[in-house]
Parts: sequence; structure tokens; C-alpha cells
Amino acid sequence: MEYEPDKRFECPCCGQNWIDIRLERLVWHIEERAGEKLVITSGYRCEKHNRKVGGSETSSHLRGLAVDIGVDRSRLRYRVIGAAIRLGFHRIGVGKDFVHLDIDRQKDARVIWIY
Ligand SMILES: [Zn+2]
Ligand SMILES: [Zn+2]
Repeated sequence: MEYEPDKRFECPCCGQNWIDIRLERLVWHIEERAGEKLVITSGYRCEKHNRKVGGSETSSHLRGLAVDIGVDRSRLRYRVIGAAIRLGFHRIGVGKDFVHLDIDRQKDARVIWIY
């Protein structure tokens, strides 16, 4: 079967999508485990879009190594973080209404931060 890009990960301003395929697959696994379709609030970001949303200059989103998953309730937050940790994610950012996950090996391992 031909690989179909998942548009949820593309940059919303220009449609570019350099999301890392490994990350994409991991998110699909989280989705399976969460038992529902997830909202990706940010995937790949081009430089321009990253500046617009106030992302850091070294944001892993710029390299397609990070995703933000929208979470609107505590149980979904638990499911997403729980599944992410079981799948081996060890860089997790927790926002009020999203969870950031990245696979950026150039940054600290085994950290959870808040926004
Ligand atoms: Zn863009
Ligand atoms: Zn993020």
C-alpha cells in the first residue's frame, strides 16, 4: 500500500511536512492505545510559522521531531502520557490543553516539563 502522508502533521501556514516518520508512527500507536482520534495541534513547523507561534529558535518542531497533541480532559491526558511513556518517549512537555512529545536526541533525555 502506498504511503499516504497524514496531513495533521503538516505546517499549517505552508503545507510543508518534514515530520519524522518514526514519530508519526509512534503517534499512531498512541492513538490506538488512547482509543480515539487525536488532534495534532502542532507537528512540523517551518521557520516562519515557528516564529509566529512563539516557538523557541531550537524547537524540535523545526526538524520534524516533535508533536503537540491536544488534550481537553484529564483522562485523555493520562492516556496520552501513559501510552507515550510505554512507547519509549522520554521528552514530554505538558501544557494546559496539549502534550508535547519529541524524539530529539540532541536534547536532554528523561525529562517532563510544563509550560
Ligand atoms: Zn509553514
Ligand atoms: Zn511542541
